[in-house]
Amino acid sequence: MSPLRVQYLELKAQAKDAILLFRLGDFYEFFDQDAIDASQILGITLTSRDKTIPMAGIPHNHAQAQIQKLLFAGRKVAICEQMELPQKGALVRREIVRILTPGIQIDHEHDQAYLGAIIQEGEHHALAFLETSTGELLIDHGLSLERLCERIRQYAIKHVLTLGFTLKLPNILNETLPINYITKNRAQELLCEHYDIGVLDALFPRPGCIIASAAAVLMVLRTQRLDRLTHLHRPSLLKSSATIDLREETIEHLDLPHLFKLINKTETALGARRLKYWLYHPFRQSAKIHEQQEAVKDCVAVTCTGIMDLERLAGKLAAKLTTPRDTYALGQSLLQIEALKLTGSSAAIQRLSQTICDAYQQLRDVGAWIRMHQKADAPTTHRDGGIFQGSAHPDLSELLRAQDTQALLQLEEQEIKNTGIPTLKVRSNRIYGYYIEITKSQLKNIPTHYERKQTLSNGERFTTPELKALERILLTAEARQRELEYVLFEELLMKIAINPLMQLADALSELDALSALSRMLERNWVFPTIDTSTDLIIDQGRHPLVEQSQQSFTPNSIQCASTTFLITGPNMGGKSTFMRQIGLIVLLGHIGSPVPARSAHFGAVSSFHTRIGAQDALERGQSTFMVEMTELARILHEADEHSLIIIDEIGRGTSTYDGLSVAWASLEWLVSHIRARTLFATHYHELTSLPGIINVHMHALDIDGKLKFSYKLEPGPALQSFGIQVADLAGLPKPVINRAWQILGRLDKKPRKCILSTDTQLSLF
Ligand code: ATP
Repeated sequence: MSPLRVQYLELKAQAKDAILLFRLGDFYEFFDQDAIDASQILGITLTSRDKTIPMAGIPHNHAQAQIQKLLFAGRKVAICEQMELPQKGALVRREIVRILTPGIQIDHEHDQAYLGAIIQEGEHHALAFLETSTGELLIDHGLSLERLCERIRQYAIKHVLTLGFTLKLPNILNETLPINYITKNRAQELLCEHYDIGVLDALFPRPGCIIASAAAVLMVLRTQRLDRLTHLHRPSLLKSSATIDLREETIEHLDLPHLFKLINKTETALGARRLKYWLYHPFRQSAKIHEQQEAVKDCVAVTCTGIMDLERLAGKLAAKLTTPRDTYALGQSLLQIEALKLTGSSAAIQRLSQTICDAYQQLRDVGAWIRMHQKADAPTTHRDGGIFQGSAHPDLSELLRAQDTQALLQLEEQEIKNTGIPTLKVRSNRIYGYYIEITKSQLKNIPTHYERKQTLSNGERFTTPELKALERILLTAEARQRELEYVLFEELLMKIAINPLMQLADALSELDALSALSRMLERNWVFPTIDTSTDLIIDQGRHPLVEQSQQSFTPNSIQCASTTFLITGPNMGGKSTFMRQIGLIVLLGHIGSPVPARSAHFGAVSSFHTRIGAQDALERGQSTFMVEMTELARILHEADEHSLIIIDEIGRGTSTYDGLSVAWASLEWLVSHIRARTLFATHYHELTSLPGIINVHMHALDIDGKLKFSYKLEPGPALQSFGIQVADLAGLPKPVINRAWQILGRLDKKPRKCILSTDTQLSLF
């Protein structure tokens, strides 16, 4: 076995479960099974070394995108670098410098990638989600297995560590660690060190959260070869009393990803993340919402353009991955921050401007230094120089002067004169160094002391003793310049304090998100009045997304307090749109945003409950009807009088009478036991006679067999569903439509079963 092969196998043994990128000169090579896997995932050619060992490779300077592909495929990636300059005949020392996983990525530009760590606490689970690039840490506890899986899906966790038990989740890298991967004591120690505090009780509600968080941190430290995650945030409890916990299905039913796109007028990546967080974790207390509204009003003129992702910069600093391009951007960002003008009397703006001012003071000097001495076209690596202006250090200006191309130009002029060859050029490249280039036609005129260096298709390259001497001077100057810039850059990094950087990132993310919300006022949105009542009054409300896609949108109003509205009306009449619109307006109100309405006034809700549409969850072994019933069960168990409940059809995925009975009983329960603000849409017209509900319907007209929708909500129940007319509109074959009319005529004559008479259910009220 060659020494290189021995070295490879030793390194591979340290990262058995990862694909090893083995640095060989300008390439990362894959060997053995890794080569086979990488060639399949990346679509690169599979070759072999010595005809026996499978091998594939990628150029190191294009590795980033390929690494992303491997991570995206759910694989771990170990990166092995050459730790010294190659010496002739000697084996270069190589080390694994970091291991990346789908959940542990520091230097990435895309959305969040979380690493999850989970531990069992009795029958329940505690978890920690760590976003390595930003240092964000989310925790939760007391979760059933079902809730746990929901959380994992909700945050798109791609790599999960389970301590002492195994969890099989599809499309996720599951890693089972021994229960003693980190002991309770070590976990406490590690986190106390990180947060620089003596006890963790104020930060972590349960011991399980401490162990899970420490396990995630430890995994990052080990894979990134670090001693400390300096950019680790304090943990945020997912189940916080300050925010409303939205269920996965509510996020989907209300189409929050699209709503986020619509309202995301942030100017920085920081702000976009904060705004998304608010939308997915709306505030609970009306006082906080009011405070937020005041802050939004104060941010109308605020702009955060040109500010880089300071949170990720903190992450890169902690992981020693900062590039000159990052520091240059920091210098520019600090300039923008200095120019920020914050005015307003709201508590939030006062707090933010104080934080920004204090943190900025601590970074002002380093920012000024960067702007004064760093070059604008900063490179992505700090190994090759070209980062600073001569002003950065007296020696640097000297070294740059020594490399002045003037000397080369003089030499060129002199050689042209001596040889009489007008096309002669003195140039250099990285591989061959400095040379004199002569075209083919002039080769006969070269002096005898010219030494041949390289033959080209259209000429030859030469050197002379004089050029060699000059080259020596230039190269030493260049090497010393590179070394000096490397040291200067390392010194610069030491001067960038991470704490104020994180404080700035935090405050600016809030500011940017607030100012994005203030831009909603330009769309004719208004601030709702939100209090502690159970009112729901919306005047001329609009659906923010449908409004965008329709030429004309019909606004609708609603006024209720702890009431169950039963909404009937034709298919396609606008029932779902109306109910979602109410949900979205209330939700937007809860993040302090203006809302699409003429005016709105409602009591803060304690929870959102939605049941809309017909989805199955086959991968979880649930049919459409089962999903519907599970969601309904949750609503009936969990909702209270301060909830907002939106139910769009119940009982459609089973036989008519079974479905109607379930819908009937559920509606009775909602009216008599839960008494929340409820919107319930149905095509079961039998339900309209239930006591305790308010009937409304979506208006439509049948003009000569043609349906005309007005999308207007009107009082009272609808008389029919117009299902066959809608089927006709959708283009069902005419004979089928005609036959449907015939069948309907016959069915309408038959009386429905007696269980549906109102007598039997009256006793319940
Ligand atoms: P179904 O009973 O078949 O589920 P529905 O009553 O829930 O139907 P929606 O899905 O809400 O009907 O609306 C159907 C379409 O009507 C929407 O996609 C939208 O294009 C349009 N629409 C709904 N409401 C309005 C409105 N207020 N103004 C203008 N267009 C609307």
